Amino acid sequence: MSISPTGEGLRRALDGPFHDLKQRWRDEVSADEVVRDTALSMEEARDWTLDRVKKLAQRDFVTAGFPSAQGGTGTSAESVANFEMMAMGDLSLTIKSGVQHGLFGGAITNLGTQYHHETFLPGAINVDLPGCFAMTELGHGSDVQSIETSITWDPDTQEYVVHSPSPTATKAYIGNAARDGRMAAVFGQLWVDDEHQGVHVALVPIRDEDGNPMPGVTIGDHGHKGGLLGVDNGTISFEHVRVPRSMLLDRYGGVGEDGAYHSPIESKNARFFTMLGTLVRGRICVGGGAASGARKALAIAVHHGLNRRQFRRAGLGEEIPLFDYLSHQRRLLPHVARAYAYGFAQNELAQQLQRVLDQEDPGSPASRELETRAAGMKALLTRWALDAIQEAREACGGAGYMSDNGITMTRQDADIFATFEGDNTVLLQLVAKALLLEYKSTWGDMDLRGTASKTAKLIGGAFMERTTARSAIDRLVAVANRKPESERLRARGWHVQMFEFRESHIVESLAARMRAASKQPEDQRDAAINACQMHMIEAAKAHVDRIVLEAFIEGIEETADDYIKAILVKVCDLYALWTIEQNRAWYLEHEAFDPKKSKAITATVDALCGELRPRAKELAEGLGVPESWQKHPTEAVPPIIA
Ligand SMILES: Cc1cc2nc3c(=O)[nH]c(=O)nc-3n(C[C@H](O)[C@H](O)[C@H](O)COP(=O)(O)OP(=O)(O)OC[C@H]3O[C@@H](n4cnc5c(N)ncnc54)[C@H](O)[C@@H]3O)c2cc1C
Repeated sequence: MSISPTGEGLRRALDGPFHDLKQRWRDEVSADEVVRDTALSMEEARDWTLDRVKKLAQRDFVTAGFPSAQGGTGTSAESVANFEMMAMGDLSLTIKSGVQHGLFGGAITNLGTQYHHETFLPGAINVDLPGCFAMTELGHGSDVQSIETSITWDPDTQEYVVHSPSPTATKAYIGNAARDGRMAAVFGQLWVDDEHQGVHVALVPIRDEDGNPMPGVTIGDHGHKGGLLGVDNGTISFEHVRVPRSMLLDRYGGVGEDGAYHSPIESKNARFFTMLGTLVRGRICVGGGAASGARKALAIAVHHGLNRRQFRRAGLGEEIPLFDYLSHQRRLLPHVARAYAYGFAQNELAQQLQRVLDQEDPGSPASRELETRAAGMKALLTRWALDAIQEAREACGGAGYMSDNGITMTRQDADIFATFEGDNTVLLQLVAKALLLEYKSTWGDMDLRGTASKTAKLIGGAFMERTTARSAIDRLVAVANRKPESERLRARGWHVQMFEFRESHIVESLAARMRAASKQPEDQRDAAINACQMHMIEAAKAHVDRIVLEAFIEGIEETADDYIKAILVKVCDLYALWTIEQNRAWYLEHEAFDPKKSKAITATVDALCGELRPRAKELAEGLGVPESWQKHPTEAVPPIIA
């Protein structure tokens, strides 16, 4: 099915550096391979998902990001792009591959050594060795550092003993555990000679050749969930299960031939968070995957809005297309604009991931900055995706509620994206913490007391790291400052100033409050820090909003076609002004503008929706969802029973 030249141009711009890769998916992967029948039972969905992951692996669609010696066929940035494309087909399939290739394979790649790569990666890649990433426990999810599973070195037998010391140590919600997994990358507290070395990861066989649990391994099935029916999530617990020394993924620490523990990183805390940091790609993928689900729902809803008509124009026989109603434009086009904004920002994030990986310096300031951005983007993209998918469903009316077009299943499947790979509320606090400490501290721990006492004054937005779009932005700000007041609302430099003002003001005032909290008497300090929590979350959101706007600006700069560029400028106006409008209570409270300007912003958002309405079809095409993978609501009407 062909799309319009403008849709093609927008798609090319939004795909950016990943256009060829994404186009290969569109050209070569049929709906049958990636779009799940919504009527499948849980068992059928699990069968379908495993089968399709294996087939995609055979065709090199999920092999990017692995070492080439073991069959890798591309960069880690490309593996993010692959994930995003798969998510336009089906989110169960994407998460199944995410667990197998991204988490299990990623743990072996990033935490293991040559031996682990050669021994386990080929099976992880082609799915002959289905694997789990067993970090979360019943007792601890967000607070991973407190997990209870132990990995104890036994010098007599030269083995590690993996054990769940209590019911709450049971690994929980683990993908691939309930049915398919043969091995698990198990996170546990490492003990060597009675000395605690922090959380490490051991590979533990969990099922034998016939699919029965290994001795000492107990497996449970979570069964039916709120979504992701194709993924077999389950529980795993261990009763003194022994594995050879070689099974510890020991790139960052393990017991050597001499029987002593060695690690290149001295601090337990830094070691653990460095290990987790190497797995940041998963978080980037989850944000991008949720956004892909939203893009698909929006593409379907825009198509429906352009074709469905309700009510007649006064005096005319003609019925009105839904998209001619301002309210319909208002419900969908700002979300479409945000989909573009997040798409450009994801491209930049994936490239940043690659730059950091190429430096091979985990724990560096650049990697802390990447982790901060990945966490913030994951939180905002997954939250937005749920809102956008719901709006798309409602915009399709009753037809949108019919399972066949996939919107309701996408919404169910995307729901949990707000929680796994780091709960959004926790992640946003970690983002704020990184800003307060100017990326100087270990990324990932939730030591807010330490943060409060170390918070710098952070005056004048000095904490704002500069994105690659900086020179273009300085130019735009200078242009905006020369414009008369009446023209400022559509000046990109003014948008940048508003976004920067919100970020710097919130972060600076948070810094002041945290410093004051740290000076409270000992018995009141935690309460004072807790009182800053909502402020932390708002600081993180403002930070990510600014990063996203800068990425959009850069994406426009890099678009060669002037016609496409002109459309993207309007889309960016809509993204920026809608974001300002959504935060206008804050802007008014802080006197960034007056009520008159606030009203003008709303009027401009309305006007932009009207201006973009004639381009709605092309904008939806530009979102990049293969046409044959979309089922439109009008096709959801079942055959009449004779
Ligand atoms: C379908 C599914 C698949 C999964 N797959 C895997 C997998 O393959 N491997 C794996 O290891 N894990 C997996 N998980 C686990 C997932 O990563 C955890 O559920 C997640 O990390 C959250 O942990 P929790 O469920 O214990 O929630 P909790 O940590 O108990 O959080 C519950 C609520 O409390 C809030 N909260 C927690 N701490 C704070 C705080 N300090 N401040 C403010 N609010 C706070 C959170 O925002 C959240 O809303 C999966 C989960 C699901 C549901």
